[in-house]
Amino acid sequence: MRNNDDRIGSQSRTDSASAAQAATSGPTPLDFIRPITVLSLPSEGKFYPESHPLHNQDTIEIRQMTAAEEDVLTNRTLLKKGLAIDKFLERIMIDCSVGPNDLLVCDKNAVLIQARIDGYGPDYKTRVACPACQTVQKKKFNLYECLRTTTPEISDEEGIQILSSGNILIETSNGWQVEIRPLLGSDETTIASNEGKNAIQRQLQSMIVSVSGHTDEVTIRKAVEHLGGVDSRRIRKTHAQAFPSVGLKSPFQCQQCDHDTELEVPLNAEFFWADL
Ligand SMILES: [Zn+2]
Repeated sequence: MRNNDDRIGSQSRTDSASAAQAATSGPTPLDFIRPITVLSLPSEGKFYPESHPLHNQDTIEIRQMTAAEEDVLTNRTLLKKGLAIDKFLERIMIDCSVGPNDLLVCDKNAVLIQARIDGYGPDYKTRVACPACQTVQKKKFNLYECLRTTTPEISDEEGIQILSSGNILIETSNGWQVEIRPLLGSDETTIASNEGKNAIQRQLQSMIVSVSGHTDEVTIRKAVEHLGGVDSRRIRKTHAQAFPSVGLKSPFQCQQCDHDTELEVPLNAEFFWADL
């Protein structure tokens, strides 16, 4: 049963429909049972439009990964095209009507982290480079801790309004009313395209729903180009505080130069290859 005090709650069951049929002779037949995990969605199904299968759904079911999924994650062609993680997600999500691109980033990250816990356990050891001096050092994550959702920390204040949809309306210094929404898996792909060129503008274009009532792409793109640095920063900061997030985030203190910061490790295919 889901524990309301604990948003990282997940439970397992098994898919007995795939169990082997009894054989008449020879050794006891193997049970080809593939466990299923019911995972709490960090978004709790908010922000998804009514037509979306996850609208107001607070859980999602995923299959435990097998050697077949390991093959997907190490498939060179898929890795080259940047499709390995998406193909992997398509295989483990039970509800075929939900694609990885339609998932909010917080929910997508939670599915990836849960899949790795189901596959290899909750300890994740990796190497990270210090952002200041580039010294590479070891870092260990407890993935259950990482699954804990960072809950929104925003209240109605001057120039910021929380809409009934969950989206946020921000008034910029030039009087524009900018509506923002949480990012989807497809937005991540757009932002990362062209080797991350113009990443801040792409990020803003993805998160902005409308500018003073204008919803068309061309107007939003022009508005983003004309957005002052202070407003750009405020919109991105509000975005980071206003919507739930899940990821490999951890405080980091460099052993070499004492640089103190918060690090976020990307959830790419390498996440599944670390030393066990
Ligand atoms: Zn350092």
